[in-house]
Amino acid sequence: ISVWGSVVAGPPDPILGVTEKFKADKSPKKINLGVGAYRDGNGKPYVLPTVKKAEQKLFEAKMDKEYLPITGLGSFTKLAAELAYGKDSKPLVEDRLAISQSISGTGALRIAMAFLGKFHETSKTIYLPTPTWGNHIPIAKDSGLTVKHYKYFDKDTVGLDFEGMKADIKSAPDGSIVLLHACAHNPTGVDPTEAQWRELSDLVKEKKHFAFFDMAYQGFASGDILKDAYAVRYFVEQGHQILLCQSFAKNMGLYGERVGAVSFVCDSPEEKAKVDSQLKIIVRPMYSNPPVHGARLVSEILGNQELYNEWLVEVKGMADRIIDMRTKLYDTLVRLETPGEWKHIKSQIGMFSFTGLKPEQVEKLAEKASIYLTKDGRISMAGLNDGNVEYFAESVSKAVK
Ligand code: PMP
Repeated sequence: ISVWGSVVAGPPDPILGVTEKFKADKSPKKINLGVGAYRDGNGKPYVLPTVKKAEQKLFEAKMDKEYLPITGLGSFTKLAAELAYGKDSKPLVEDRLAISQSISGTGALRIAMAFLGKFHETSKTIYLPTPTWGNHIPIAKDSGLTVKHYKYFDKDTVGLDFEGMKADIKSAPDGSIVLLHACAHNPTGVDPTEAQWRELSDLVKEKKHFAFFDMAYQGFASGDILKDAYAVRYFVEQGHQILLCQSFAKNMGLYGERVGAVSFVCDSPEEKAKVDSQLKIIVRPMYSNPPVHGARLVSEILGNQELYNEWLVEVKGMADRIIDMRTKLYDTLVRLETPGEWKHIKSQIGMFSFTGLKPEQVEKLAEKASIYLTKDGRISMAGLNDGNVEYFAESVSKAVK
């Protein structure tokens, strides 16, 4: 008998499964709208010119391959914190931000939740929006947290269920952990307005909840790094001791480099030092220390005024191309007199759009048009371009008629 004879097959990943089907399709018209990675106007992966320049610099510098410290490259974490919080942010100026480099956004979430599981005193229950990025749930459970949900998306308006969201956050026991998508909510593309964020800040404070921000799309959502950081910075200004997970996968196109950061706003430099020591104790047995290359790339770009300015333009370019596709898709759907209301395609933010397509329609699109998306009707806007948006709109139009 085999050692692993009792292992049963687990379900495939719902998003990566879409790519498998796409790959197997022979149609020249096929489109993959499943995966959340940016594509250029020709449907190809995009390496940012600033990343290429940074790579050239690193190559020329002939740097060694020594281990990084447990919490990563100091120049990187400093710059990452400044990008998210702002250089003048009090926790930075007062040296009370504990931060660690992480294996991209996912690794940041894993460290963050492990830390909460060990040290968050008032509650081990985390409230996630319904729906949320699928991976939040297993990461929380594997970290020993109890998962509960708050209402977020209103299927009827294809928008934010703000009243439902507030009611659920209000009825959670005081001192609960509340995870908030800082911008470009995945999978819905629906974000609170700035006024709604201010209300949420008051509510979270009143309930003594702990605000946990997942920011995987800073700059990528609106094209403006400040606008996308609004919620994070506002909460910090209001005195919340937030926790923040950052990723450079989308906004620098560094998906496979796995570079991110996790940070904790502390009360004092002394507290920061204690939190920092415990972060090391969490990281060391997981992977000892993070990879160096991606962090060096980010440091080169954020730390050099010229490259930084160029990068801002590139991020805006990616965001604008997606926003342009939203307009084109909307206009074409309307021109084709597609039944239903499609305004949400334009109002939603970031990589994804929650189309409102039903599972049967999603299936039809795959079978009849070789167009692949996740069952929930989410499309990655980045998969659309001038060459395929018309075909996609026509196929959607047919699928819903
Ligand atoms: N959080 C959210 C909401 C995301 O959408 C993603 C990427 N899909 C991540 C975190 C983490 O991605 P990564 O590990 O590639 O940085």
